Amino acid sequence: MSRVYNFSAGPAVLPEEVLKEAAAEMLDYNGTGMSVMEMSHRSKAFEEIIETAEADLRELMNIPDNYKVMFLQGGASQQFAMLPMNLMKNKVADFIVTGQWAKKAYQEASKYGKANKIASSEDQTFSYIPDCSDLPISEDADYVYICENNTIYGTKYKELPNTKGKTLVADVSSCFLSEPIDVSKYGVVYGGVQKNIGPAGVVIVIMREDLITEDVLPGTPTMLQYKTHADAKSLYNTPPAYGIYICGKVFKWLKAMGGLEVMKERNEKKAKVLYDYLDQSKMFKGTVVAKDRSLMNVPFVTGDADLDAKFVKEAKAAGFENLKGHRTVGGMRASIYNAMPYEGVTALVEFMKKFEEENL
Ligand SMILES: *Cc1c(COP(=O)(O)O)cnc(C)c1O
Repeated sequence: MSRVYNFSAGPAVLPEEVLKEAAAEMLDYNGTGMSVMEMSHRSKAFEEIIETAEADLRELMNIPDNYKVMFLQGGASQQFAMLPMNLMKNKVADFIVTGQWAKKAYQEASKYGKANKIASSEDQTFSYIPDCSDLPISEDADYVYICENNTIYGTKYKELPNTKGKTLVADVSSCFLSEPIDVSKYGVVYGGVQKNIGPAGVVIVIMREDLITEDVLPGTPTMLQYKTHADAKSLYNTPPAYGIYICGKVFKWLKAMGGLEVMKERNEKKAKVLYDYLDQSKMFKGTVVAKDRSLMNVPFVTGDADLDAKFVKEAKAAGFENLKGHRTVGGMRASIYNAMPYEGVTALVEFMKKFEEENL
């Protein structure tokens, strides 16, 4: 068996310790004589798994008591519809469009009410975060929506927008648990777990209680109402049980690593190695405005599509997987989530140096 350095944007690298534990428990979870995949979601064993997962997540993120945690399905993309169906009481929401995911959320919301694009960075291929200190927030906006870390373009909000008192809703799929956040500044924090937490199939939604009501758009399906899931503690129907179990293991791993302050330091240290190299390289260039750089997703280019392709091919042969950039940006992207070790990033940079020497 040999493991590669996996720079995939998602589904992405998971901590090896977690995978090994899951493997060891595959046939017999904790003396139950069965895999977590095979057990009732109403069983004592699973109840403990989901309750522990929630408690650990609350501890890691310091989630205030007046917020509910929900483990849902449908991907982050389903939230693009579920959020407006549940939160658009005035049928108005403001969107800051900083990439494809924010744009999709904006487009989907416009099916249910008036979605306003109050700022965008599309004019420069989403390579920066717009100034959000004094935006034209709508008087009657039910919420202001952002995608906090732009997985495809590699930008991240370093400061939350001034929403002028309106509820902030944030898609944190690709920066979930990468650093501490102040949950109380948001109405909703949500994300698909397959970027930085666990296997595809689970979406975690952290929502302030007063936003969870029966007052939803007419025709909203039971399964798409937050109240359904909040009231049933994510057990209204069969949840993505195995995925939640793995997320729980990752929460334990994060706690053992020292929590989110430590992860932030680690992530900054890892990203710095790569950005420092990119800043002095004569061949590779980062594509993002320096102040808005993501710690998680690092896109870069050589400026020559053939050379990019050669790099991706040779990197793969050397054990660096999934470095090809998103089709809309081209070039390369290294996603360096929590579970990517420091050694993975330094090894990549050494490989890039060598490639640069050989091909310049
Ligand atoms: C991957 C991603 C999504 C889409 O997630 P799905 O679970 O595939 O629907 C949405 N937002 C962000 C920021 C992402 O990185």
